[in-house]
Amino acid sequence: MEKLLTRVSKPARYLGTEWNAIHKAWEENPVRMAFVYPDLYEVGMSHLGLAILYGVVNERPGMLMERAFAPGPDLEGLLRENHLPLFSLESHRPLTEFDVLGFTLQYEMSYTTILNILDLAGIPLMASERSAGHPLVIGGGPGVANPEPVAPFFDAFLLGDGEEALPELLAMVGSLKKEGAINDRRRVLKAIASMPGFYVPSLYEVEYNNDGTVAAVVPREEGVPERVVKRVIPDLDAAYFPTQPIVPFLEVIHDRMMLEVMRGCTHGCRFCQAGAIYRPVRERDLSILLRQAEELVRHTGHEEISLTSLSTADYSRVEELARVLAAAYADRGVSISLPSLRVDAFSVRLAEAVQRVRKSTLTFAPEAGSQRLRDVINKGVNEEDILTATGEAFRAGWQAIKLYFMLGLPTEREEDLLGIVDLARRILDQGRKLAPGGKPTVTVSVSSFVPKPWTAFQWEPQDRVEAIKEKQKLLRTHLKGPGLRFNWHEAEVSFIEAVLSRGDRRLSRAIVAAWRRGARLEGWSEYFNYSCWEEAFRETGLDPAFYAYRSRREEEIFPWDHLDFGIAKDFLKRERRRAWEGLVTADCRSGRCTGCGVCPGLGVDLILKGGPRDSAT
Ligand code: SF4
Repeated sequence: MEKLLTRVSKPARYLGTEWNAIHKAWEENPVRMAFVYPDLYEVGMSHLGLAILYGVVNERPGMLMERAFAPGPDLEGLLRENHLPLFSLESHRPLTEFDVLGFTLQYEMSYTTILNILDLAGIPLMASERSAGHPLVIGGGPGVANPEPVAPFFDAFLLGDGEEALPELLAMVGSLKKEGAINDRRRVLKAIASMPGFYVPSLYEVEYNNDGTVAAVVPREEGVPERVVKRVIPDLDAAYFPTQPIVPFLEVIHDRMMLEVMRGCTHGCRFCQAGAIYRPVRERDLSILLRQAEELVRHTGHEEISLTSLSTADYSRVEELARVLAAAYADRGVSISLPSLRVDAFSVRLAEAVQRVRKSTLTFAPEAGSQRLRDVINKGVNEEDILTATGEAFRAGWQAIKLYFMLGLPTEREEDLLGIVDLARRILDQGRKLAPGGKPTVTVSVSSFVPKPWTAFQWEPQDRVEAIKEKQKLLRTHLKGPGLRFNWHEAEVSFIEAVLSRGDRRLSRAIVAAWRRGARLEGWSEYFNYSCWEEAFRETGLDPAFYAYRSRREEEIFPWDHLDFGIAKDFLKRERRRAWEGLVTADCRSGRCTGCGVCPGLGVDLILKGGPRDSAT
């Protein structure tokens, strides 16, 4: 193996000897799992979930977790040429030697890479073709909001938080091994299906209507739950957090310490799946965060602490936290960053407080170009908020502003698109006035709307690829001139994403067919090849338009309806109606529950830590 690594471009991706990597003795730890990130090392090592689960499993006696990533094309070529299997980083053992392989489903475009990894490991792609000696292949992460397109490849999925559920699974695997029952695959799968939060897709039958929609998803046998409810860590303060994470040798996407200040988001943007499936909001206590930050700094040597969450500026005591951290670590050359800002002046002042030295680009996400459309998506900001925030940013010395928008949102009209142009120009003019002498730039970055399960827009069609391209062209024509920049996402990628995100089990055939044609690492634009998918759909006779472009009946049964993330379908229907009426729904953080169903359904509550945030605005 070492010889092979001298022939690849970035061998440090595969060494496994980084600072803080854990090498537990194989023989002394009879339950062994590999966490497999279906993308390159640089992406996977920036993922907080990996760091959490790696730590939580390895701190337990009797079990170990190692890491594996998708190999770069050069190593893949060498492995195939030399008939060598894909291996874990820590012990360089073939993945087949582990009891459990856990994939995180972060993004639909990683599905072909999952197949590639299974193939490189020498594991049958189909769960039904695996036998006693093969590892259990399990999946987790946001893709499990609708895992049906990849269901035939997995033995089980975990819904929700993994800190408690994963060690429980491994403990169960350990006792089945001890009993000598681990080779009875049926028994193992039934045991997993009986654990809260675990979904074993092969134990469910999908029935279809004549029009191709799902008629029902039902358990195949007694004792298998009709609905699988997600796992939630009710109180993050009591949960494990990795304060001694692995420090990579090479530059990764996010080269910094991650301090998770809270989980969940209560804004209720109607397109946002993460905001729905990670509810309720659970904040960490300030004193705990300060202690964790101290340990992170001591154990890593990184020069930046990133305050991570879906919407960090919402954390009740964010200002205090940011200021204390900035003051405590300035001398040691450690800066603080806030990866997600809201479109408000408070966020800008906060960013200013922590980013004293480097004022690079400040990013905001108005998402839509008109107030009407921002109300439809429940974005909860108005033009004044946006202009005040950008004005503050220019005054504070930022020269570059980036604005995120989505094309193809439900009810979108041409004036909404022109609203994007207008807003960008007004912000640029403002920059010229408020940042005299400087050269302000405004970058407009647009993605295409992808309707996602568990959102108020899960019934909506996606815009056709041609329509998206026309809209991109319109924006490109108007967003020209000094100081203006425009970039966009490839429409075909968003189309495949839309097909897979609301798809059913039949799509697994297309994923296999696309992979056979060479599809892999498709999150990277240089590797995405649309023709692989076009041919895959032709070969399998599946119509991608059925999944992406169809407006779904309100009563339609969805492929994910037997899964339970706590959000009530009735709430989503209500939100959908309110969207079409242009009515906004308040954030439940302010005190009034808007009835999404999560808290009563899962027996949990919002955990807010109070503090001076409101008085500071
Ligand atoms: S149940 Fe109510 S309080 Fe809880 S997350 Fe939903 S809207 Fe907010």
